[in-house]
Amino acid sequence: MPMTLFSDAFPVLDWSRANGFSGGGLDRRSDLRGDSAALDEAFAHPDVRLMLFFGDQIWLGGGENPFAYLEGDRARTAVCTNRLFLGLDADDRPWFAGELVSEPVLGEGERLTDLRSLALEGEVSAEVFGPAAQARSMLFWHKRHGFCANCGAPTAIAAGGYQRDCAACGSQHFPRTDPVVIMLITDGDRALLGRQSRFKPGSYSCLAGFMEPGETVEDAVRREVREESAIKVGRVRYHSSQPWPFPSNLMLGCIGEAESQEITIDPNELEDCRWFSRQDVKAMLAGDHPQGLFCPPPLAIARVLIEAWING
Ligand SMILES: [Zn+2]
Repeated sequence: MPMTLFSDAFPVLDWSRANGFSGGGLDRRSDLRGDSAALDEAFAHPDVRLMLFFGDQIWLGGGENPFAYLEGDRARTAVCTNRLFLGLDADDRPWFAGELVSEPVLGEGERLTDLRSLALEGEVSAEVFGPAAQARSMLFWHKRHGFCANCGAPTAIAAGGYQRDCAACGSQHFPRTDPVVIMLITDGDRALLGRQSRFKPGSYSCLAGFMEPGETVEDAVRREVREESAIKVGRVRYHSSQPWPFPSNLMLGCIGEAESQEITIDPNELEDCRWFSRQDVKAMLAGDHPQGLFCPPPLAIARVLIEAWING
């Protein structure tokens, strides 16, 4: 869980710290990425840490407080591909990540699990979630960018994993982040929440959608809400953001003010969408709503936005 709502670098309140997969405190040290000797030296560090992924799953050690990395010699002898340099922690320990080349033989207490379940289980400390999000997004990108989008020739990993180079045409390719807007729309003492058919029964959340090229955050919020619910939105304020490594989204959390009230649902996007009173929303957060309705779990940016509105 995030330890503090203050930024790693500055003593200012930073609501993004309340969102899962944020922070983690690694200094990414991009200055080292182009220096292969420095990266080799970092990997030779006695306490180097290596996070391992196998497809969508992360390797977890055993014990009462399972950690999500191998250390020292165990890290150096792991057979993996696409080795990424994630950065240095507060004790100057280098962190790396890699993709297992085959399904691992698991030791006692060890397991593979997907990151979403891990976040919900809350078993692993907050220091691991930021680097895990960074690693998962990057490894997914490497797996899908083995060939040059410009000329079709094979590409090779470079710059500590932050780049892929094409020797045939000289193109350089960089990992992408896809922005998504997620917004709580309010109308005085009511909030607009909706549900998709894939949600658990009774779960209601903020509306959300992908930003499009050439669009501002504010316009994307207004367009998505209008498309999904027909509600017109006026003022939009940014609240906080959440890396969402499935595979490489950045959720931009906003709070918007409605300028119309009548809802028309887009059935392709939503199964239901309603105005909820402040009293309803409080009960949904507390888990004691009379109809059994509820909001997303802690660490979800949707819940953080809803709580921000409830708490003023
Ligand atoms: Zn090329």
